[in-house]
Amino acid sequence: MPPAQNPPTPQNPATPQTPDTPQTPATRKPLDTRKTTAADTAPASHEPPAAEDAQVIVVGAGPAGSSTAVHLARAGVDVLLLEKSQFPRDKVCGDGLTPRGVHQLLRMGLDIDAPGWTRSRGMRWVCGGRQVTIDWPDLGRYPDFGLTRSRHDFDDILARHAEASGARLRLGVKATGPLTDRAGRITGVTATGPDGRPVTYRAPLVIAAEGASARTALAMGLERDAGRPLATAARRYYLNDELSKDEYLELWADLRCARTGRDLPGYGWIFPLGDGRVNVGLGALPHRDGTGTDLRATLDQWLARLPRQWDLNEQSADSPLRSAALPMGFNRHPQYSRGLLLVGDSAGMISPWSGEGIAQAMEAAEVAADTVVLALTRPDGYRREQALHRYPAEMRRRWGRYYRLGNTAGDLVFSRFGYRPILNQYVMARPGLIASLARLLTHLMEEPPRDTADHVLNALVRAVPLHRRRR
Ligand SMILES: Cc1cc2nc3c(=O)[nH]c(=O)nc-3n(C[C@H](O)[C@H](O)[C@H](O)COP(=O)(O)OP(=O)(O)OC[C@H]3O[C@@H](n4cnc5c(N)ncnc54)[C@H](O)[C@@H]3O)c2cc1C
Repeated sequence: MPPAQNPPTPQNPATPQTPDTPQTPATRKPLDTRKTTAADTAPASHEPPAAEDAQVIVVGAGPAGSSTAVHLARAGVDVLLLEKSQFPRDKVCGDGLTPRGVHQLLRMGLDIDAPGWTRSRGMRWVCGGRQVTIDWPDLGRYPDFGLTRSRHDFDDILARHAEASGARLRLGVKATGPLTDRAGRITGVTATGPDGRPVTYRAPLVIAAEGASARTALAMGLERDAGRPLATAARRYYLNDELSKDEYLELWADLRCARTGRDLPGYGWIFPLGDGRVNVGLGALPHRDGTGTDLRATLDQWLARLPRQWDLNEQSADSPLRSAALPMGFNRHPQYSRGLLLVGDSAGMISPWSGEGIAQAMEAAEVAADTVVLALTRPDGYRREQALHRYPAEMRRRWGRYYRLGNTAGDLVFSRFGYRPILNQYVMARPGLIASLARLLTHLMEEPPRDTADHVLNALVRAVPLHRRRR
């Protein structure tokens, strides 16, 4: 696919709204706020030549960046989406979306009935010689199905959707550092363009959506919080027609580390892709004493335990085993500072309960975009700044307690024994209990509550005190 150098496309109609994201005046009409021009922030003589300017620059076109760009562009904001790779490209992931993620795709107007999307009916948990199959809950707020799609396709579709919504997508552009003014506020980024030459891009607001590398955030001094979880996960594709058609995501909770025999501080998965392949992988926190797990050896040991007729072995492998980090539980903050908003893995937004991060990246993207749209209606200065600080406040309101509880569960339980204690013999014999636990793990609770499970789970989460606000 050639790098996109097209002019902006016409804006799409307004973003569909649901009650929890009230439509602001700014989302109803194109913004008339003044754009920062190259002249406003004239480069010092040592800076590379300016390429383009925009109202907002988004760095990284994964789920976080492309979704932010979709929402901003639909609201009439002039947005530049910079991505270092050429798409389509591979991305290490389990490729699974819960109903929460499907909900975000629908809100962006993606056609999930098009070929290539595979629906899941629910999850199958395997632990201690038992297995329990549960359907996704039938909630009013979310669809009752999940999806799988390889990230090779998924990220490309989302980035093209951002472009079709009006964002200027620039592939092969690697951001190398922030540009700042004298006050230390970000005013754009330096980058290397598709031809390898240095360029600068300028905007008064920048979204860091670069995934776990969090390069721009780091360069702005936003370090990872070492007290919050950082897991590692590895996945590999295997060919198996039958497993590929399975209607359930399969999760194994009683795996042991190959070298030490200790409980895996995580779980294994087999996710059907519907195209003859399954995505098989393992994710794990570090053990409580800080030691890691040999994921490759543990995966081999687990595969040897699986039914022989599944043929998940070297011969049926369709890719190398690849691993990557999972920054979790809001492990980088503040999520807004000096013109820079962090979204998705750059902000450590992966759920500490499940390792799920795509839905979280897309949901945070919508909140970030809404915040920016509102902020841009205000004059530059204190009032705009106040509006921008609503982004971390809103993220804390939505997930702060839930993540804090998950971080604690990770510290006290998952990092020592994995999921085995909560999926014990007693629980595994009670599908209703598993269904409620699954809702906790995947953050599928209704507020206001619709049933007893909602009442109990919401009360549990509400009982957790919020971290004090940091700026
Ligand atoms: C093995 C594994 C399995 C997982 N399984 C699941 C799962 O099944 N379901 C789920 O929901 N989550 C899963 N996750 C988590 C999920 O992959 C991430 O949470 C999600 O990709 C976060 O999206 P993001 O947009 O924040 O970051 P990314 O997806 O990492 O996207 C970042 C983008 O920024 C680009 N970029 C980086 N640096 C620069 C730069 N300097 N300049 C320009 N562009 C740059 C990258 O090329 C990339 O395209 C898994 C993670 C791993 C490692």
